[in-house]
Amino acid sequence: MMAKQQPPALVLNGIYKHYGDIQAVNGVDLTIEKGEIVAFLGPNGAGKTTTIDMILGLQQPTQGSLSVFGMHPHQAIRRGLLSAVMQTGGLLRDYTVAETLQFMAILYGRRTSVVDVMKRAGIDHVSSSQVRLCSGGEQQRLRFAIALLSDPEFLILDEPTQGMDVEARRNFWLSIRQDAALGRTIVFATHYLEEADSYANRIVLIRKGEIVADGTPMEVKSKSSDKIVRAHVTDIDKDKILSLAGVHSLDFANGKLEIRCSDSDSVARYLLLQTNAANLEIALAGLEEVFLNLTHD
Ligand code: ATP
Repeated sequence: MMAKQQPPALVLNGIYKHYGDIQAVNGVDLTIEKGEIVAFLGPNGAGKTTTIDMILGLQQPTQGSLSVFGMHPHQAIRRGLLSAVMQTGGLLRDYTVAETLQFMAILYGRRTSVVDVMKRAGIDHVSSSQVRLCSGGEQQRLRFAIALLSDPEFLILDEPTQGMDVEARRNFWLSIRQDAALGRTIVFATHYLEEADSYANRIVLIRKGEIVADGTPMEVKSKSSDKIVRAHVTDIDKDKILSLAGVHSLDFANGKLEIRCSDSDSVARYLLLQTNAANLEIALAGLEEVFLNLTHD
């Protein structure tokens, strides 16, 4: 007998969401398979939160259909398959971390032990601290722990590290990454390019309510044909380099030269044959470049 095929974690089918004249989401088609870690990356107002709200059933699309594991989002949430870590709100400040989780576990019908989720979210060391005394990063990990209570197959995080410092952000993502290794499907919205690059295995770049790029971080980065050529050199003729075909800009300081260009071969040839350049390196332009190219007018 053939095994029954599982529906994808998420299917968005021709989704539009309009608020009066504002077209927040403008025809999005997207399928996310089980186990994918997907970053929704886009500038302010691109439509990331609106899309997430629709996936969670908090907003209804103006047009189009969507399903989570083949069912309505509310049904997926009721079954404990779908859970979310939102940006703010929702914590009782005078409860301790452990009390908050015990309370939520009863409210939602616990599946996972409170001690276990505290460990997985990395907040077991503050279990008896009152929420109001926890740092922003710890409160966000508490939201993550709450989301883990139902042991969801699909976790959505809307800008979960907003306002955290670099170390808190790194620790938060470490917890998420360890958890993702268990096979959970994860979608997160972020402004931070490096978060998308480091923690997602697929980036969906959104601009004005539309998907403008979709692929692995490598694939998305390769959308920009720009290259960066770096070399050590004692002296350069700036005008000559800028006049080479395909050169967009250059930086030169303390003997280090960096050239942004579309034709790295001719730049490399010039540097090696006409100057004393050494330690030549050629790299693809980064995600930031692609982000700016694809998300601005
Ligand atoms: P950010 O990164 O700033 O959070 P975003 O990509 O999440 O932005 P959304 O919050 O989805 O973007 O907003 C998309 C557009 O829809 C924006 O122009 C926003 O002002 C508008 N919008 C969002 N929610 C509402 C609402 N409830 N009523 C009216 N307009 C809204």
